[in-house]
Amino acid sequence: MIIAIDGPAASGKGTLARRVAAAMDYAYLDTGLLYRATGAKVLAMGGDPDDAAVAVDAAEKLQPKDLENENLRGEEVGNAASRVAAIPQVRAVLLDFQRQLAKTPPENKHGAVLDGRDIGTVVCPEAPIKFYLTASVTERANRRFKQLQEKNPAAIYERVLNELEERDARDSARDVAPLKMADHAIHIDTDRLNADAVYNAVMAHIRTHMGTDD
Ligand code: C5P
Repeated sequence: MIIAIDGPAASGKGTLARRVAAAMDYAYLDTGLLYRATGAKVLAMGGDPDDAAVAVDAAEKLQPKDLENENLRGEEVGNAASRVAAIPQVRAVLLDFQRQLAKTPPENKHGAVLDGRDIGTVVCPEAPIKFYLTASVTERANRRFKQLQEKNPAAIYERVLNELEERDARDSARDVAPLKMADHAIHIDTDRLNADAVYNAVMAHIRTHMGTDD
């Protein structure tokens, strides 16, 4: 079983996907981490995330420990991630790993939950259950800003909003695997829903699909 969860930055898909995977005892892959780790590697080498040769080299050299780097969550790395993610050869390098994990989840798990931008459209178009999470950019900026403020009281809302808008534009406009809803995906607008409500709605769909809803 493969469950695909796609959506724009800060739509809450990571928290949701992790929770769903735990509830189902499935493997979980945050595919954004692969692009973040690639972007972070390029930045660490003093390279330009738009430089295809450097970015492909970084993607090819990714090691499991690179995904554990604590600094991957920041906006600077997020931006570098969305630049390397627009390079077709980078996506090709990272595709096999994602498909492999989806088809053969580790620890003999019976399924996998993958979250990202193109899981339902490109990585696992055959996934029987697909969700597409959205929220307005201002709502997403509010959520991201609150998280940031807890760590850094000097965080600036307008900056968070601008960065999200820039990333949305790049992720949606690129030629390869742009962010878009897959056919037959279940669309959930999370603007007026808290994390529990989104989780409950998603689990209800999964139970219905699996015939375990009585
Ligand atoms: O989801 P997250 O914000 O961690 O992703 C970082 C960046 O990686 C995104 O802005 C996007 O450009 C890229 N990405 C992608 N395809 C995925 C997951 C992430 O292009 N499946």
